[in-house]
Amino acid sequence: MEARRLHRRCGVRASEHLRLEVIAAHCGATIDVARIDGALAQLVRRGRKVQILLADHVTDLAAQRFSIAHELGHLVLGHPTPQAVTAAKGAPVPAQERDHEEEANAFAAELLMPAAWLRHRCEVGPVGLDVPRQISQELGVSILASAIRFVELTTHPCAAVLSRKQVVQWAAVTDTFPHAITRGRTVAQTSAAGAFFTTGRAPEQPQRVAAADWVDAPSESVMVEHAAGSPELGTVISMIWPEGSGAAQCAA
Ligand SMILES: [Zn+2]
Repeated sequence: MEARRLHRRCGVRASEHLRLEVIAAHCGATIDVARIDGALAQLVRRGRKVQILLADHVTDLAAQRFSIAHELGHLVLGHPTPQAVTAAKGAPVPAQERDHEEEANAFAAELLMPAAWLRHRCEVGPVGLDVPRQISQELGVSILASAIRFVELTTHPCAAVLSRKQVVQWAAVTDTFPHAITRGRTVAQTSAAGAFFTTGRAPEQPQRVAAADWVDAPSESVMVEHAAGSPELGTVISMIWPEGSGAAQCAA
């Protein structure tokens, strides 16, 4: 809601209006590059001056944009600083407390990838990475961010899974996806992500894979996986869905 309010305040109606330095200025903040250890960005308040510091080691444009939008979330949502930004990422938050990191991420996702612009495409588009790739190019976000957004907005059962060094780092699943994908699970060599870890390349087209490659399922059940690897980061993002539910073409 706050991100949408900010869109209205800043007159954002198309992707070219999503200029973060202008939006930050509307919120009374400047964006500066600085040397920061252990974080991508930081929100700093000195008296009435509000600064979003972007770490100088973050050179990827999409990562810069998401980091700035995340810090804007902390600012707009009135989160305390600097505790919110120095808290260890992934540290458990007591159930009764607000999770400021989750809130800032949700704010950033809506600010950069408004649901009103994308919901229809995610609902009717084929499951896979084609729509997230388009979103990533059009809105200047990473394929990771757009794949998670796809999972948030689609009605198809599917999961976006990030793996690294052949281990699942995290997974975003729709309410309709019939399985859990657990963090720390070893990526099967026979999966499309497994092909990236073995050969350095993920298949370009969606592949039929054994459901058991990703979830606890009977050996005969089949899923479809569309994977994209990042040689620089050594990571793979996989979109996974039950065969027959995603209306996407399958290569194998
Ligand atoms: Zn944060």
